[in-house]
Amino acid sequence: MRATIAIFLALSLAPLLGGQAGTLTGHEELLSRLRQLDAAGPRAALEIIGRSTQGRDIPALFLARGRFAGQRQRKPIALVFCQQHGDEPSGKEAALLLAAELARRDSGILDRLDLILVPCANPDGAELRQRRNARDRDLNRNHVVLSEPETQALHRLFQEWFPEIVLDVHEYGAVSPWWVGQGVLKNADEMLGALSNLNIDAAVRTFGQDVLYPAVRERVAADGFVLFPYTVGSPAEGDRLRFSTNDIDDGRQSLGIYDTLAFILEGKRCGAVDNMLERRAAAQLSAMTAFLREAARRAPEILSLVGAARARLLAPVAPGERSFVRMDYFPDPARPAVTFPVFNLQEWRAETREWKNFEPQVKVKKSVRLPLAYVIPGGESRLVDLLRRHQVRLQRLAAPAQARVEAYRVLHAAARLEEESVKPEFDLETVSETVTLARGDVLAFLPQRARRLLPLLLEPESSWGIMTDTGGQESAFAAYGREGGTYPVLRLMEPADLPLEELE
Ligand SMILES: [Zn+2]
Repeated sequence: MRATIAIFLALSLAPLLGGQAGTLTGHEELLSRLRQLDAAGPRAALEIIGRSTQGRDIPALFLARGRFAGQRQRKPIALVFCQQHGDEPSGKEAALLLAAELARRDSGILDRLDLILVPCANPDGAELRQRRNARDRDLNRNHVVLSEPETQALHRLFQEWFPEIVLDVHEYGAVSPWWVGQGVLKNADEMLGALSNLNIDAAVRTFGQDVLYPAVRERVAADGFVLFPYTVGSPAEGDRLRFSTNDIDDGRQSLGIYDTLAFILEGKRCGAVDNMLERRAAAQLSAMTAFLREAARRAPEILSLVGAARARLLAPVAPGERSFVRMDYFPDPARPAVTFPVFNLQEWRAETREWKNFEPQVKVKKSVRLPLAYVIPGGESRLVDLLRRHQVRLQRLAAPAQARVEAYRVLHAAARLEEESVKPEFDLETVSETVTLARGDVLAFLPQRARRLLPLLLEPESSWGIMTDTGGQESAFAAYGREGGTYPVLRLMEPADLPLEELE
């Protein structure tokens, strides 16, 4: 009750914290302003990359000095997308300001990188002022199943240009019950989340965390804003603070899994959708600009780092090479506490608080040896369709053939808790056998762009694959985990002479 009253007070007093309601840019106005930028000169080109559930255009602005991707080998491409969550509009407002600035003059960005800017990835949610899309799906929990036209559009765009750098822009709620119960609001103007899924190339992850992040924080501080690592949870009893998810279901990790230097940015939101909108947009603009300036400054380094990691995606599978299919956050003795920026509601001032129950370290809980390829029965067209939405390279058996495979028998199905959510758990028996694969069976060999993605999608014990609930929906493939049955996806373990044809 006390917390409820405090939240009410915090929300009603929030405008006093430094601003007033701003004017949200509606979708028609957004499109018209992007068309103006397109018409104004050669630096900006507008493309419609897809349509929302309700038929609204999803725009992308291609920004480059000279022809876009005209110097593909010398300049990286950055993809920045905003407002996957319709009630988080400040990224879009900042994107419009950034686009206008970049279309007008040089600012140390477009001479070093080309930029694709998607100001609003969820136009229906934006118009409805709701988090989810018009089909009530959370788009930032939809990057595994890609069932929604909005996430499909983003992934098509990504696969077409294969950008080296990605920024997914959001907002977080500064008012939350446990924190208000302690007399504070969360008070980082911006939170920036680096890659944490351990399957992503270690050099790419380390560069993001140890090189890019601190440099961005310094630039943002020079603008008068506080940037903090993206931290979730609370240190209440039985709870913990940790960095944000390792799940490849979100925009950052789902594109990071291609060894992309990807981040999630979370601006501070407090109260109504349009509350203090100008200040929120200014903070987002500061962080987005800082991120792009720093990426531009280090463009050659990023090109060679990401290029080398992506070359390794295409190398043959090494004996003993593994995929990390489960991980979680754990305490780190070197960092037992976190000093978090807060706003003290009693004394009405910004300060920091030290919290324990901090678990910043990601550790692997389960790994599996990589197969040479995954084999999907030809009849499993829903699964083949899902892999095609990820633009996985697939081949089909032109005639029956023998192969040495591993199959999983499902002895027992249960559940486990990971990252504060329930995941399916299976007691499996692995059986090695020589089988005759049928004509029409589909194979996905691992040396390909989706090398790190495939095991995470297809392994039954993966925390983030086809067997796991996504965005609150039940898995469409739940029947694959039936007790007493055999998981239908097989693992090709030895080279075989297979009559293959490309699946178009
Ligand atoms: Zn969000």
